Amino acid sequence: MENTFGNCADGKSASLFTIRNARGMEARISDFGGVLVSLFVPDREGKLRDVVMGFDALAGYEHNPTYCGALVGRNANRIRGARFALDGKEYRLSQNEGANNLHSGPDGYEKRLWSAEQIAENSLKLTLFSPDGDQGFPGSLIVCVTYTVTEDDALSIVYGGMADCRTVMNLTNHAYFKLGGQDSSTVLDDELMIRADAITAVDETLCPTGKLMDVSGTPFDFRQRKRIGRDIDSDHAQLRFGKGYDHNFILRHQAGEPDVEAYSPASGIRMRLYTDLPGVQLYTGNFLDVSVKTKGGRAEQLRGAMCLETQFYPDAVNHPEFLSSVIEAGRYTEHFARFAFSV
Ligand code: BGC
Repeated sequence: MENTFGNCADGKSASLFTIRNARGMEARISDFGGVLVSLFVPDREGKLRDVVMGFDALAGYEHNPTYCGALVGRNANRIRGARFALDGKEYRLSQNEGANNLHSGPDGYEKRLWSAEQIAENSLKLTLFSPDGDQGFPGSLIVCVTYTVTEDDALSIVYGGMADCRTVMNLTNHAYFKLGGQDSSTVLDDELMIRADAITAVDETLCPTGKLMDVSGTPFDFRQRKRIGRDIDSDHAQLRFGKGYDHNFILRHQAGEPDVEAYSPASGIRMRLYTDLPGVQLYTGNFLDVSVKTKGGRAEQLRGAMCLETQFYPDAVNHPEFLSSVIEAGRYTEHFARFAFSV
């Protein structure tokens, strides 16, 4: 189902698509920024709760400094010094966070109007052409993201793309989950398990130092499910840098097992995340702008929602020792994230 969502600043009209499965689970996604505006999943009483933070109107997404719900590209997270070399050439990006580049700069994919095609009652395909030199990256890239609400209550996101030369492609979705529903205050009482033995350690600019940090005996050990709030304010340098969790976890990828599992005792909603990407950024909304009202005029609190951004490791393009975020010329490349819900 397609409804109008409003007119963009440049006069173009944006739509809001609804995709749903036969059981009632429903996602609302705009072709503006590919933003996931709402995600309705059943709670323990069978009532649908909207489990992502978002805005009622398009304007909220046009001014969206926290990337709420957005498709982030070409490169998610940070690139140190907003520069990198590829095949002997140096490329410069905009410095939109100190000297570094965050989420590809001010002209991110979250500000673009994507071409949308509802390919089934439960599936939406979004396509974007990103020309050579876009945001400073080499090569033309066609990006194709498909959102599907599956019959077993999962939101599947498939990120595909092909470029005409070697270039960076590191796409993610920046949904802020509130598994307790819109009225939940913070995520601190939600429980989280992350199948990761290490994180990529960061410096005070939140860029990786290149060192991996073993999570054993640290606040970053989520291998046994624990309350997010349990250790978040511990005295640990990594937590000080992020004012809480804002770190890339190195996923162990155990066959058949979720990479992440989150649970809200308030709603009974459980979310299992599966991905083929090497990392996930856990961001607990430590820098949310709480003066910005969300759906229904809500005032949010810091740590009112959490992101689980599947991705290549931050700044991978400058770290040959990390798995590469570079795709080959003319070769279609695809990755997935699957958020499976149950009670
Ligand atoms: C980053 C945070 C940033 C947030 C919103 C996350 O992916 O890691 O540091 O504040 O996005 O921009």
